[in-house]
This record gives sequence, C-alpha cells and structure tokens, in this order.
Amino acid sequence: MNSKELHELASTYIPGGVSSPVRAYKPYPFFTSRAKGSRIYDVDGKAYIDYCLAYGPLVLGHANEEVKTAVIEQLGHGWLYGTPHEKEIVLAKKIITHYPSIEMVRFVNTGSEATMAGIRLARGFTERNKIIKIEGGFHGAHDGVLVKAGSGATTLGIPDSQGVPKDLVRNTLQVPFNDSGLLNDVLEKNHGEVAAVIIEPVMGNVGPIPPEDDYLNEVRRITTEQDVLLIFDEVITGFRLALGGAQDFYGVTPDLTILGKIVGGGFPIGMFGGKKAIMELVAPSGGVYQAGTFSGNPVSVTAGSKMIEILEREGVPEKLNEVGDRMRAVLRDMIHDSGFEGYVAGVGSMFKVFFSPGGAKVKNYADALSCDKVGYLGFFQRMLSAGVFLPPSQFETNFVSFAHSESDIERTLGAYKANLV
Ligand SMILES: *Cc1c(COP(=O)(O)O)cnc(C)c1O
Repeated sequence: MNSKELHELASTYIPGGVSSPVRAYKPYPFFTSRAKGSRIYDVDGKAYIDYCLAYGPLVLGHANEEVKTAVIEQLGHGWLYGTPHEKEIVLAKKIITHYPSIEMVRFVNTGSEATMAGIRLARGFTERNKIIKIEGGFHGAHDGVLVKAGSGATTLGIPDSQGVPKDLVRNTLQVPFNDSGLLNDVLEKNHGEVAAVIIEPVMGNVGPIPPEDDYLNEVRRITTEQDVLLIFDEVITGFRLALGGAQDFYGVTPDLTILGKIVGGGFPIGMFGGKKAIMELVAPSGGVYQAGTFSGNPVSVTAGSKMIEILEREGVPEKLNEVGDRMRAVLRDMIHDSGFEGYVAGVGSMFKVFFSPGGAKVKNYADALSCDKVGYLGFFQRMLSAGVFLPPSQFETNFVSFAHSESDIERTLGAYKANLV
C-alpha cells in the first residue's frame, strides 16, 4: 500500500490517522518505511533529508549504530524489570554531572509526565496552588498546562482543549515570553499564592524563539525575590544547546529542571530533578505522589546513557551550534537578497524561517501567530517535493543533527533558495 492508501486505512482506526496531532497535514502525511542517519524513507520510495527528527530527540540522527548496539545488548538481559537496577544510577549520575542545579532525579516516561509531576512537586513544596506559564509555552498534553499551549494545539487553532474543566486551569496564569515586567506584575498581584513559574528557556513549540538579552536573568531575579520556584522545561534544549542545557548556555539556574526527548536516546523518557531539599519530597521519601510502570526501564536509560556518552565524546552540542549558526546566516542573506518577507529565528541547532509580515522579528507567541501559516504550508510541500522534510507546521522547530553531512546542508540551503520565494 502507498501512503495515501495507508492514511485512509489508518484514519478508520486511529483519529486523523495519526498517533499525535502534529504529524497530520493535508492532503495526507507520508508513511515511513525506515530511517537512518539524516534520512527518512517513505513507503512510496522517496527519501528525505530530515529536519523534523521526531520533533527533537534524535540529535545524532536516526538509528545511531552505537545506541543500537547498546540497546540490543540490553535486550538480551531483559527490557522491563519493575525493580531498581544499576543503569538508572548511571544515567542519573550523567545528568547530575552536567546540571549543577540537579542533585536528584526521578525518571518518568515522557516530557508530559515529567512536567505534570514537576508542577505537583512545586505545589507540594511551596503549599501553594497557582502556577505561571508562558503564552504559547508547551509542556505536554495534560490538563493543567493545556492553556494556549503551543505545538499541535496552536496549529489546530484550539489552544484550549475541549474536555479540560475550567476549574482545572483556574490556577494556571499566563504571561507573554520576553516580558519580565508583566511577569513581575502578575507575581505581585498574586503574592504568596504562586508555587512556580514554568518556562521553556527557548520557546520550542511556537517556532524557536530565543530569550532576549537579559530576560532569563530577570525571570530568575524576580522569582527569587518573590520566593517562587523557577522550573525550566528543557525537554528540547537539554543536552542540545550545551551538555548542561539552556541553563548552562545562558548561565541561569532554575530550581527544578524537566528533561525528556534527547535524554532517552530516542526511546521514551522524561525526568524531573532539582535540589535534594525539594526532590526528597517525592514519594516514597516524601508525600508528593508520583509513580510509573515503565519508569526507569532499562532500555530507555541504556539508550540515554549511550547517547550522552557520544555527545560528551564528540562535543556534539558545540559542533551542531556552529552548523545552526551557519545555516541561519545563509538563510538571512538569502531572505535579504530576495526581498521575501520572512524572519530567520533560532539558536544553536534549532532554526526556522517564520513567514513574518514585513520580516518582523518574532519575540513571543502573539508574533508567531501573526505569521502566514498557510504560506508556510505551501513552502513545506515544495520542500517535501525537493526531498527535504521540515516539520509540517509554522510553529514547530527545525533541528539539525550530527548525522547531517556538509552536502546535506548544501542541498537543503539550495532547496530553500529555490522554494522560499
Ligand atoms: C515535547 C515537549 C514536551 C512533552 O514531551 P512528551 O515526551 O511529548 O510528552 C514537554 N515540554 C516541551 C518543551 C516539549 O518540547
């Protein structure tokens, strides 16, 4: 069967024919047969240079051989124990080594689960109910954070999901990104009631939107002053901008950190961690309940540890950041010379061309929403025809991986030039 037929069949059994909404696009998404390195192959016989990369985890590209060997070896010893095992400690230590703000970790299975538990922990620790998130910030698909969430929720134009009781999001306040003044106002107005501010240090699910110069420092200063916990959701930026994540890259220390995506080496994982004094409140050592059948499973932690070992050895984050810098510079020149109305955004290995009116800078969710998403989708289709797979949404970040060769990058930039205008 070809992609079109598979999509029709899938749509009879699975809503929209996809297991996660962002994967859907018109007229139908290609169905993958396999993936290796920088390439993803569809069942129709086409190969694409992949910049979607499963939305973030595949910083080494698809099907890395060393990760594969480690996982196969682990499979020989079993893939789920339901007991403690030594490899959890190996990954925990690797994370703690690179993140001075983290003294203890709890592994879960997804980023969504990790933010859910991290927020619960912040509420338990502070004995307060309210949280503040950033407009368009995405922290997974659970009720308390599905308020103007980014990612698929923005693309589909349903920022507030049906089925989320109003009462459940009453305690979720929102402020725009890159505006520390407003954050300060909201914190002052809700003095003594806010448990935590949860923030992606670089917004990753409404494009990539980096913080303005002093923004994260200001957020840290204000939250300390107001005695509110600062949670960095580094599910995308962790082990990507630097081994120590955005907190190392920008030099700002949060109270709690959420990791996911890359930390599982391409297998399902999530993690929340922070100072011992906070983390020891997690069950069974404390009264904040959190649990999971598949948590800390030996396959995910083995793959994650191997991935981090390779990143350490190869200096991957720095190398990828250079590639990203070069791509953004070429794209900026291209746009400047062509007169196309767009804005090249990103930092490190995250990049995106926003179809921004007048080429205006995109600093927050409202700016991202003003972009031409329909125009972007036309461009996305033209790139697909040219053999380049970008995420099928104006609001998703493009990633470059360690598996992308010089000639992949050259070909990609050529395709941008031919298809952007
Ligand atoms: C992807 C993502 C999540 C959710 O992680 P899942 O593993 O998809 O549940 C949370 N926060 C951010 C910033 C993400 O990019």
